Amino acid sequence: MTATSGPSLAPLIQALPEDAVITDPDKMDGYRRDRSHDPEVGVPLAVVRASSTADVQAAVRFAAEHGIALVPRGAGSGLSGGSSVMDGCIVVALDGMRRIDVDPVSHTVVAQPGAFNAEVKAAAAEHGLWYPPDPSSVEFCSIGGNVATNAGGLCCVKYGVTSDYVLGMTVVLADGTAVTLGGPRLKDVAGLSLTKLFVGSEGTLGIITEVVLRLIPAQRPASTLVATFATLADATGSVLAITRSMRPSMLEFMDKVCINAVEDHTRMGLDRHAAGMLIVQSDEPEQFAASEITRISEICRRNSATEVYSTDDPDEGEAFVEARRIVLPAVEKMGAIMLEDVGVPVSRLSDLVLGIEVISRELEVTVAVVAHAGDGNTHPSIVYDPADPDGQPTAQAAFDRIMELAISLGGTITGEHGVGRLKKAWLPGYLGADVMALNQKIKSALDPQNILNPGAVY
Ligand SMILES: Cc1cc2nc3c(=O)[nH]c(=O)nc-3n(C[C@H](O)[C@H](O)[C@H](O)COP(=O)(O)OP(=O)(O)OC[C@H]3O[C@@H](n4cnc5c(N)ncnc54)[C@H](O)[C@@H]3O)c2cc1C
Repeated sequence: MTATSGPSLAPLIQALPEDAVITDPDKMDGYRRDRSHDPEVGVPLAVVRASSTADVQAAVRFAAEHGIALVPRGAGSGLSGGSSVMDGCIVVALDGMRRIDVDPVSHTVVAQPGAFNAEVKAAAAEHGLWYPPDPSSVEFCSIGGNVATNAGGLCCVKYGVTSDYVLGMTVVLADGTAVTLGGPRLKDVAGLSLTKLFVGSEGTLGIITEVVLRLIPAQRPASTLVATFATLADATGSVLAITRSMRPSMLEFMDKVCINAVEDHTRMGLDRHAAGMLIVQSDEPEQFAASEITRISEICRRNSATEVYSTDDPDEGEAFVEARRIVLPAVEKMGAIMLEDVGVPVSRLSDLVLGIEVISRELEVTVAVVAHAGDGNTHPSIVYDPADPDGQPTAQAAFDRIMELAISLGGTITGEHGVGRLKKAWLPGYLGADVMALNQKIKSALDPQNILNPGAVY
């Protein structure tokens, strides 16, 4: 990697603490891409490792003065190329800003953006409290990145997504002004809902330097049920029957490819012949959880489950949840992947999953499907051999057809990972001209120079 040229960085270096500005190409290499395998990453002019809101302001002011692109970066676990860099940009890395202050009385936490989600959860747990949103990347994604992508996760089927817990934030705007929006109040309707505007804005409207999050009482230990099915329709039919009358705290789906990828990795004895597997949890009080799990077992059996197993042992339950969390790294071992994040109304989950199977068969390409099934949010990974000249084009064709299928079912092109750079081409068609224009008006009002994460989303 060779360095790119730009204006003198001396004023920026002077305005920031010692060693905050990195320009050594080798040291910058780890800040160039996220986990999406975006093939088109460039070389930044510099990486600013911010340690305060003032540091971020200094970086933004310098960039605004020189018309330089800024790429905000949390932990780089994103899956849509949201923090991929372009040549000559400045990466604003928030990984050094990790303070977490819990207020156990008002059930809120103020966190700096670089703190990992798991660290926020752990700090809340010390006070008997819980921050629910739990992306599978919980151990290595930042809370700022979660807010910037409106991250989802496994317990969202019952507890909602990141946006449901964001009460306020401090955000640095494109001209370097820092504004504080919302705060530790459960109710606040003064002015426009600007806090929510920044949730899910993927670094394109401002750089978040502090968040105020809502906490709730600690989750009760969950009972876990695992069911396997000989057909995909039986598995998705069970999901629909469960969600029709219940709201479990987790309802995840893995198809045969995922089951086998995880089994290769863990040797935990998963049924390699099953077409699909559900992992369901109930965190209701003991007796209610038992009755919920019994009802879910009955539903799975009525839908021809080949095996239904349940446990109240939290460690055993956690082993199944962990199996679900490692699906993506396990599938990544099978080859290059193109990962989707399409979501549909849960009533159309069967159509989506069965439709993906048809696409996979017709194009003769492996598609591994894991889903936050209770939310209708699926992650089909199209697996291909990068050495095969037909591999990438066929995978792309499958990717496009899956997007089209999801949209035709009333679904979205991204349920939780964000548009980033990799799904950008799909956004105008999905939103339609009027809503796309409205998005662009807001973007240009807040970032007239287009220096905040240009190339992402819009
Ligand atoms: C194995 C694996 C499993 C995953 N599972 C899930 C899952 O279940 N649910 C889910 O939602 N996601 C999941 N993800 C995706 C990813 O972890 C989330 O999108 C996460 O929210 C990204 O956080 P990050 O700190 O890594 O952000 P980054 O990747 O660094 O950035 C993501 C986006 O946010 C912007 N950004 C980051 N920090 C800030 C900030 N402070 N201010 C403004 N903009 C900012 C970036 O510019 C970029 O556009 C998974 C990823 C992996 C690798």
